[in-house]
Amino acid sequence: MIRITSDTLGVHDRDLIRRFCTFALDILVPQDKKHQLKKTDIRIKFGRPGKEIKGETSVIGPKGRAWCRYEGTVNGRKKFVLVISESYISSRAKKDYMRLKKVFLYLAHELTHVKQYMTGELYDYADGTCRWRKERYEYDPESNRDYYDSPWEIEAFGREWGLFKMFKLQLLKERRAK
Ligand SMILES: [Zn+2]
Repeated sequence: MIRITSDTLGVHDRDLIRRFCTFALDILVPQDKKHQLKKTDIRIKFGRPGKEIKGETSVIGPKGRAWCRYEGTVNGRKKFVLVISESYISSRAKKDYMRLKKVFLYLAHELTHVKQYMTGELYDYADGTCRWRKERYEYDPESNRDYYDSPWEIEAFGREWGLFKMFKLQLLKERRAK
């Protein structure tokens, strides 16, 4: 289930964002893991830079304007929180999917992390290290090099444009057919 919390987004934009998430997860999650999606809850919280976000200890700043937080399993359901900055919504673009383009790019990235945690590819240990596909990583989040060079980030960055483009093509095809 996908839920969106935002002070500014209307019904149409929320629908489009939910459609993008469903589309992206369908591509990201391998066939033999798809059943797990039914037991996964994703809450997407839109927030403003520097402003407090309900239930979050971090605020959106110049360094982190979108993130994915895995809350673990509650009552048999895997819980995720995605935080996205409202500054990614463009007010100048005319088309709905262009107004939300940056939101989709960042969602594609964060949903890739959802897939990684959901399927168990990525696992965070309490001591700050993590496991990626059976291999233990000592990971220093302060180091940009570690960040950009880690296999899970390479996958997440690598998904951004492709998922947006595929979604856009699918959407335009549907709209032309109407
Ligand atoms: Zn990332």
